[in-house]
Amino acid sequence: MNDFLEKAKQYIDKAAQTVSNKSNEFVEKTKCKSAISSAEDQITKAYAEIGRYYYESHLSGELFEGFVADKCALIDELKEKLEELKLRLAQLNDEKLCPKCGEKCAESAVYCSKCGYRFYEDCK
Ligand SMILES: [Zn+2]
Repeated sequence: MNDFLEKAKQYIDKAAQTVSNKSNEFVEKTKCKSAISSAEDQITKAYAEIGRYYYESHLSGELFEGFVADKCALIDELKEKLEELKLRLAQLNDEKLCPKCGEKCAESAVYCSKCGYRFYEDCK
């Protein structure tokens, strides 16, 4: 977990540097992508741990809700980081994310290509 936060912090620090250079951008995209898949893996693992825990509790007849609550809090935290990373990656790719469905759209798009969400209310 701390490792993940540390990595996320490094991207933010990197973003603060002037990234006019395409190769820096490429490196950042690669790091963003790997942080995204690492967060997704951790979420999948936490889901599996909750499932296994429930199963083992069923066998032993004992359930400590604290374990599940901790895993859920971890998942919430990871999902939040994931949103930030996906947003950053979209910015690097000159894309934006639809606030309604999360679809990646071109920075210049007026409507979301998936759900039809209108990005700019004032253009009618
Ligand atoms: Zn959409």
